[in-house]
Amino acid sequence: MVECKYYSFYALAKINDPELLYEAFRQQIAPGHADEIEIEVFENSDKSWHRLTRSGGHDQSIPAEVRVVLDQRFGARDLESWYYDSDIEGWFCSYRPLTSKQFVLLVKSGDPEKLIEEDYLQFLFHFYCHQLQMLQGTYRDALTGLYNRRAFNEKMQQLLDRSSNYVRRAKNFEPTIYVMLDIDHFKAINDRLGHLFGDEVLLLLARQMSDSFRDNDLLFRYGGEEFAMVLMDITPEQAQQSLQRFRERIAGYPFPNVDRITVSIGFTLFDKTLGIDELVRQADNALYYCKTTTRNAVHSYQELVEQGLIPAVRAPKSPHLETS
Ligand code: GH3
Ligand code: MG
Ligand code: MG
Repeated sequence: MVECKYYSFYALAKINDPELLYEAFRQQIAPGHADEIEIEVFENSDKSWHRLTRSGGHDQSIPAEVRVVLDQRFGARDLESWYYDSDIEGWFCSYRPLTSKQFVLLVKSGDPEKLIEEDYLQFLFHFYCHQLQMLQGTYRDALTGLYNRRAFNEKMQQLLDRSSNYVRRAKNFEPTIYVMLDIDHFKAINDRLGHLFGDEVLLLLARQMSDSFRDNDLLFRYGGEEFAMVLMDITPEQAQQSLQRFRERIAGYPFPNVDRITVSIGFTLFDKTLGIDELVRQADNALYYCKTTTRNAVHSYQELVEQGLIPAVRAPKSPHLETS
């Protein structure tokens, strides 16, 4: 029996990088079998399957017999399972790491003379799924399945660190937008219909969010009936349009038992010189402006400041300036 290096796998899984997971599975979890094991990783995005290539790219050329298994066994949302296919002679394991994407790992023995023990593979998969579920429990909100507040802090910090690198390299930096969203008069829904209906509204709204934004965008339940989003590679003008469309979609969505739900949205351009608190305050101020005017609207922090409708949020003085 090969020993399993739990600690290193946990660290790698946290990085949420399919390529690293692939290597981890091969080299670290199954070190004695690394040469015999063939692993492929498939990703479901935009409702179709792609094979992840070792170089980090995507490949559509999936063998028909594998595609059938992926579609029939793993096509449904939120399915978490593992499964042995005797025709393919391989084990499939489905998982969702810290993104909205679904991945399926296919493990086969490369050498028919050295078949990997079934028990051992089962053990690996159980372990693998367990780790990912644990991570999901840590980083996902139980009701909506979106990232929770803890994930918010970590992801935002990563993004701020990363965006300063991008700016330094000054090459492929694309604007990023930070968004705060709050349901209008949500308390009235709870009061009128009860918390269970309120919860259902939160769940349905989260689904609409997942369906409306791109796979790379980050969606958080910030707390209660407030949500946060990070929209990648998008200009403020495009963000305004996309958020307006989303606002209209929600206003027109037939939530069961609730006639109409509207949301107020504030957003700001991701500025790497700011900290998380300032970014949140900027978007929050734009959101607050919605709440004190019309509700059911989308406002940009930068535009409101330019128009003199709200004051600018000051970045805290750096200690360097204070001492000089
Ligand atoms: P506004 O338009 O100003 O945002 O009004 P509002 O009623 O939405 O805002 P307020 O902050 O007064 O109330 C928010 C309500 O959200 C209060 C609380 O009962 C409800 N809430 C927070 N978390 C949950 C939850 O997890 N489930 C349910 N059902 N309700 C929640
Ligand atoms: Mg509200
Ligand atoms: Mg609120």
